[in-house]
Parts: sequence; C-alpha cells; structure tokens
Amino acid sequence: MSAVIIDGKAVAARVRADVARDVAEFRAATGQQPGLATVLVGDDPASAVYIGGKRKACTEAGMADLHQHLPADTGQDEVAALLDALAADPAVSGILLQLPVPKGLDGSALVGRIPPGKDVDGLTTASVGLLSRGLPGLRPCTPSGVIELLDAYEVPLEGTSAVVVGRSELVGRPVAQLLADRNATVTICHSRTRDLAAVTRGADVLVVAAGRQAIIGADAVKPGATVIDVGMHRTEAGLRGDVAFDEVREVAGFLTPVPGGVGPMTIAMLLRNTLQAARAAAGVTIPA
Ligand code: NAP
Repeated sequence: MSAVIIDGKAVAARVRADVARDVAEFRAATGQQPGLATVLVGDDPASAVYIGGKRKACTEAGMADLHQHLPADTGQDEVAALLDALAADPAVSGILLQLPVPKGLDGSALVGRIPPGKDVDGLTTASVGLLSRGLPGLRPCTPSGVIELLDAYEVPLEGTSAVVVGRSELVGRPVAQLLADRNATVTICHSRTRDLAAVTRGADVLVVAAGRQAIIGADAVKPGATVIDVGMHRTEAGLRGDVAFDEVREVAGFLTPVPGGVGPMTIAMLLRNTLQAARAAAGVTIPA
C-alpha cells in the first residue's frame, strides 16, 4: 500500500483564496481594510525571506501591508514603543514580530507587548492561555495548519489515538492541545521518551515536530496511519523532514511531503488569523 500524499500547496491555495474572497466581502461591508504589521529588527537574511513571503501573501489577499523595519542596533525600549504604537493603531489588525530578534533584545518580552486581539502568530502568553482554556482566540499558525490539512483530507480525529513528537511552544504543545480539543486521545513525546517507535506505532494520527531529520522510519508507523511531518531541514539534496518519506509512504495511509506539506499552511493560516482579528475588532460576526 502506498500512502495518499497530502497536498499542502493545494490546501494552502484554497485557504488563501477563501481569505481573499472574505477580505473583499469585509472591505465592502465595513469600508475597512485588514492590515498586517510585520516587524523585522535587523537584517538576518533568512528572516528577511520569511517576512517577504508573508508580506507578499498579505497583499495578494487584499490586506494592507504595514511592514516595519528597524535597524539591528535598535534598543529594547524603541522596539517596545513601536509595538505599543501598532497595538493602539486601528489600521493594524495583526502584529507579527519576526523571531529571532538580534542579540541584546528580549524577544519574549517584546512579543508579550502584542495584545491578544492582534496576536496573529498566537504565541503570546495570553493567546496560549486562551487556547489552553478552550476560549476563542488566535491560534498559532503552524499547528492550526496541521489541523486544516487533517480536515481537508477528512481524517477522523474524535476518539482516535494521536501522538505528537515534540513539545515546543511553537508546534508540539499547541498541536497537542488542538488535537485534544477535537477529542483525540493525545500522547506527547519528547527527547526523554523511552522507545519512541513503540509509542508512535500506537498512533492513528502521528504529528512529528522534533527537528530531527528522518527520526520516524517505517518501523515507527502503524499501517494506515496518518503522518504529518512538520520538520524542515535544508540539506544538499533539498528540503527534508523529520519523517523518512520514501519508506514511510509504503506504510502510512496519508502522509505530508516536505516540501509541499505543512510548510505552505503557515502563511495561509497567518492570513486567516489576520482576517479573524480584523473581523473581531470591527465586531463582524462570521456566518456559521
Ligand atoms: P524545537 O523547539 O527544537 O522542539 C523540538 C521538540 O522535539 C522538543 O520538544 C524536543 O524534546 C523534541 N525532540 C528532540 N529530539 C527528540 C527525539 N530524539 N525524540 C523525541 N523528541 C525529540 O523545534 P520546533 O520549533 O517545535 O520545530 C520542530 C521542527 O519543525 C523543526 O524542524 C522546525 O524547522 C520545523 N518547523 C516547521 C514549520 C513549518 O512551517 N513547516 C514551522 C515551525 C517549525 P525536549 O522538549 O525534550 O527537548
């Protein structure tokens, strides 16, 4: 049996087209344009590429690109003052501080200044609290992208056994919470887990976010399981994931590729979050 390969590019394109359509409706109904303020401090080339992709996608979706670029030697107080001004600006629906910030700046203190209603990355302590209490709020982009992929392929979650490899704030923890919210029975693995493969073999749905290339081989996957590979590794052969793709595709039922799986979903969910933030600020309710 060979797994169905989950096409993250196609799902992301669909989400982006839906957001663009909804942005046009929102603008027509309110006369307001949702705006995303990406904030880049310094000139890290990788960060500049990531920010460039987000800005382009934002414009393509019909939202205002309110990008802010500060020099690398900007002080903590100055970055904080900019974030506070963006927080108070009604033209700004969402704020995204690109991490990591240059040495000498306290990134988590800066992120903490973003109010939950504009936290389109879903990473502030307030947003994490809302997620953990099951209250409405902006969810982190990569984890919600994982759920979107599972839904797009109608993978059942309720009552299933889901295993998440990784417990980072960015991916592992929130994805585990989102899976539990969908009534999966969730196990979280990490670097101290004994016999990882024995645990992951019990998974109907396996989400791998360990940051270890090819840590999941065919022996670690239950036949027919759905495997979502969040890992990203730049190698000489190109982008690779945490899953040994060629062997796991012979065992899994559904499998995301790298590239073209989870990766494209992150920006798509960022756009959706920005629209959600704009709607909430304008008091526009979403039709069921
Ligand atoms: P991270 O902060 O380094 O966390 C990695 C997690 O994996 C930790 O909880 C760690 O356990 C666990 N881990 C490490 N080695 C392990 C092992 N041998 N067995 C079991 N668990 C192990 O990484 P992250 O930010 O969550 O990112 C994970 C991967 O996803 C990276 O490759 C990253 O590049 C990728 N990523 C992709 C996207 C995307 O858009 N596609 C977005 C974000 C991240 P401990 O807690 O015990 O240390």
